[in-house]
Amino acid sequence: AERPYIVGNWKMNGTRAMLSEARAIDRAAQRYMKVEVALAPPYTLIHAVHREAEQIGIGAQDCHPGAEGAHTGDIAASMLADAGAKFVILGHSERRQDHGETNKLINAKIESALEAGLRVILCCGETLETRDAGDAEDFVLRQLKSALPAFGDPAERLTIAYEPIWAIGTGRTATAQDIEAMHRAIRALLDNTYGEDVSAQVRILYGGSVKPENAREILSTPEVGGALVGGASLSAESFLGIVVGAS
Ligand code: 13P
Repeated sequence: AERPYIVGNWKMNGTRAMLSEARAIDRAAQRYMKVEVALAPPYTLIHAVHREAEQIGIGAQDCHPGAEGAHTGDIAASMLADAGAKFVILGHSERRQDHGETNKLINAKIESALEAGLRVILCCGETLETRDAGDAEDFVLRQLKSALPAFGDPAERLTIAYEPIWAIGTGRTATAQDIEAMHRAIRALLDNTYGEDVSAQVRILYGGSVKPENAREILSTPEVGGALVGGASLSAESFLGIVVGAS
């Protein structure tokens, strides 16, 4: 099977005191070459983590859709690449909720990130209300349809992360059956959008309370190509427990 992709999203956590955790993750990742390990620290640590990292990929958690200019407080994709980032997480539910990000905006960010040579992890996921109403699949596929980059863009640099909002930071995870069903629906959409050859290169990650204890089961679910990990990525010990579960 394809190489599993385990990505830590530090969210708004981490000062320079955390560089030792990043270093420990990087050194340990060198023993698990069958797993692709990556870390998205806050902007303020990207360059520092990049300078120390020998094995893992470093990325960001967002970018602005524009190339440069008068946008106080924003960061362009090209600036992330310059700081050493190789990928950017876009469309995370916390960005959608805290900043009102729309699928149209997320699509524009994806195009600018690809333009800057970055890989993209596009996030999607439904609320508990939507799942309980039986609309989860329709909702997620609609999110993706309006955010996915156009056919002809380098879709092989794309990763999808399915993160049900009710599973993020709650200790609740979706059942293996629910994860498999959603990932299969996403795969079918990618097949239709890009053709099966390109789609086959796009990994679909699961995110939402992934921990060392549940990683092996989640990662052995069909169509799960890896995990996007929040809380458990903040310590090298727990994050590496997940990497071991993927290996
Ligand atoms: P938790 O692993 O803390 O639930 O966060 C998941 C997530 O949102 C990763 O992007």
